[in-house]
Amino acid sequence: MATQITTGTSELRELTKIERIGAHSHIRGLGLDERLEPRANSQGMVGQAKARKAAGLILKMVQEGKIAGRAILMAGPPSTGKTAIAMGMAQSLGSDVPFTMIGASEVFSLSMSKTEALTQALQRSIGVRIKEESEIIEGEVVELQIDRSLTGATKTGKLTIKTTDMETIYDLGNKMIDALAKEKVLAGDVIVIDKASGKITKLGRSFARSRDYDAMGADTKFVQCPDGEIQKRREVVHTVSLHEIDVINSRTQGFLALFAGDTGEIKSELRDQINTKVGEWREEGKAEIIPGVLFIDEVHMLDIECFSFLNRALENELSPIVIMASNRGMARIRGTKFRSPHGLPVDLLDRALIISTKPYEQQDVEQIIQIRCQEEDVTLTPAALAVLTTMALETTLRYALNLISTANILARRRGVPAVDTEDLRRCYLYFLDEKRSVQWLKEQQGSLVF
Ligand code: ATP
Repeated sequence: MATQITTGTSELRELTKIERIGAHSHIRGLGLDERLEPRANSQGMVGQAKARKAAGLILKMVQEGKIAGRAILMAGPPSTGKTAIAMGMAQSLGSDVPFTMIGASEVFSLSMSKTEALTQALQRSIGVRIKEESEIIEGEVVELQIDRSLTGATKTGKLTIKTTDMETIYDLGNKMIDALAKEKVLAGDVIVIDKASGKITKLGRSFARSRDYDAMGADTKFVQCPDGEIQKRREVVHTVSLHEIDVINSRTQGFLALFAGDTGEIKSELRDQINTKVGEWREEGKAEIIPGVLFIDEVHMLDIECFSFLNRALENELSPIVIMASNRGMARIRGTKFRSPHGLPVDLLDRALIISTKPYEQQDVEQIIQIRCQEEDVTLTPAALAVLTTMALETTLRYALNLISTANILARRRGVPAVDTEDLRRCYLYFLDEKRSVQWLKEQQGSLVF
């Protein structure tokens, strides 16, 4: 008994270490080159060349931040990569450009009206980059920037220094300038100064790019005086979403409300006040608006009131780019008796740029399966790859991708290193795809009660 418990605990520990792998975790971008041309197989993306290129153009538009309030509709059959392309766009946006993803049905809840839910989603997708100058506080980690021309060297560049101590910071200026002048350290190097001994340790540029360093708040910067003296002030830039500003101002517990999850409805007067305030900050050069992206999956699930609301919201100067996705053809617009393409009212369709995704060719499917196997650390025998590709073409890509991990469990239990056709055959019998599930329901009609 005791042994069993021990085994169980250690297995549990092992499990907690396992990283969960999401359905789109292999997507690292849109896989486009500098000219926005799609590469055949890049950043986890395969095929769908036209749609990826179109998404790249929209991305450019978002990154330039000049255009707000555009609607994009991604239309195509199930499992043709609409969400994958949206994820690719999200990955390619800068870290402070907000990207919000919702399923249309999330808008319908008892805790708030549907228009409030949509407003919150829109507000989440607008970033406000706020610049502040403040005193450095003892114990902070700061990044110092030095203009190398001040040191007599010809080139200018950035020197990053990591320290957590105020006295060190004071003491640092001359040491840095000395070190630079003697060419001991180069722009981009990270050096650590030991407070007690004053010893400088160079960590090299790769450290500056490492995650450890990022975690230390590299967005902090020292202001360099013309005479080479280091000021005790710094400029901090942080980006928050308009929704975060709304929540912080609407609750007595301030920013803690952000962690409470349930934000409830926010009064429109408060939103107006905040918009005016943000407008003032913009005029004073203290803030910059970053229109991000709101992705609404299964958009045909919204109803006519939501569509009218969206249509109006898109007119707003502070509107993000709204990307909608639908796998429906002609469908009824919810809340009306009319049918229209993708279940969207014509006026909204009319203002949307439509990107269509097409069913995949065999070669694309095979490559996507291989990418997923790499991501999930699973090996398929060549025969199993061929069978899984056929399954994907006959059912859906998503169904086939879902079988990878389950078949791998069966292969491991058989004690073999690679998934073979037998493992796939058993999984195919255990798990129904959509078509077989519908067929099964038809056969059971009458004997099932829902
Ligand atoms: P639905 O209409 O059912 O919501 P969808 O068009 O949004 O489907 P996805 O969920 O994007 O389809 O695709 C199904 C799976 O295939 C996901 O795991 C996705 O990451 C992967 N996938 C789809 N297209 C590609 C692609 N072009 N390159 C790489 N992976 C892809």
